[in-house]
Amino acid sequence: MLLTNDTRIVYVNGQYLPAAEAMVSVFDRGFLFADGVYEVSSVLEGRMVENDAHIRRLQRSLEALEMAMPLAVAELVAAQQELLRRNNLKEGALYLQVTRGVADRDFAYPGDTRSTLVMFTQAKKLLENPLAERGMSVISVADIRWKRRDIKTVGLLAPSMAKQAAAKAGADDAWLVEAGFVTEGSSNNAYIVTDDNVIVTRQLSHAILHGITRASVLRLATENDLRVEERPFTLEEACAAREAFITSATTFALPVVRIDGQVIGDGRPGELTRKLRKLYIDMALASVRG
Ligand code: PMP
Repeated sequence: MLLTNDTRIVYVNGQYLPAAEAMVSVFDRGFLFADGVYEVSSVLEGRMVENDAHIRRLQRSLEALEMAMPLAVAELVAAQQELLRRNNLKEGALYLQVTRGVADRDFAYPGDTRSTLVMFTQAKKLLENPLAERGMSVISVADIRWKRRDIKTVGLLAPSMAKQAAAKAGADDAWLVEAGFVTEGSSNNAYIVTDDNVIVTRQLSHAILHGITRASVLRLATENDLRVEERPFTLEEACAAREAFITSATTFALPVVRIDGQVIGDGRPGELTRKLRKLYIDMALASVRG
């Protein structure tokens, strides 16, 4: 859609503006250095899902880069809710980005900038997702990202390249591989289910983003007596797995049924994946209905 036809209201530094008037400076360090961090919260029934956890991760990302929160938490959440209200967003995503702000171009952090805070909504069906029925196909690509993937920065060129390679190959997404082991998906965490029904996903470290959905899905799995192992797994192990799936805020849990053209399990969404998707969605709906 042309930006000028965009009817959304966008938040920029305290103002709620029509999309076409929402601007930041060319000297913004987010633009010049990808010197900024972001969060995406899913929205169901007009309310944000797991937003407290997203705000905590935002604080953690900002601390890692010696940036302050742009607003007090209560003010930030109030602004998020006001933006949802002004856009009448019932289902979709709320994107939030904080950059270090505007300064003349120089690599080291300038001391005295005021951070830039931008937020916008994206309307999207989340509960109804054809990929939940069909399953996703993924390709593997080399993980060429930097070494602090736990900081959720807006430096997203490597995952853009991975998604572009997937699109060119006719696949739905890409899994990133480092030294033979899957780190995560281009914008999601990656899992397999072994022959003896153990859910395996890579352990937390600087090598992956600490997914908010990942934490909840692993908790729900354990609470429902499913076995979980947090360890690295190879691409070969994934291709031979009984099931494979991904998690992220806007996809919840989605089955992966092909990796590099190889069929996973019987080629249909796996039973544990379906169960985890349902458990997560039930939890999310209960939380927004609170
Ligand atoms: N890993 C990466 C690289 C991501 O970009 C994302 C989504 N932002 C995730 C994992 C999933 O994180 P979350 O569940 O918090 O959306």
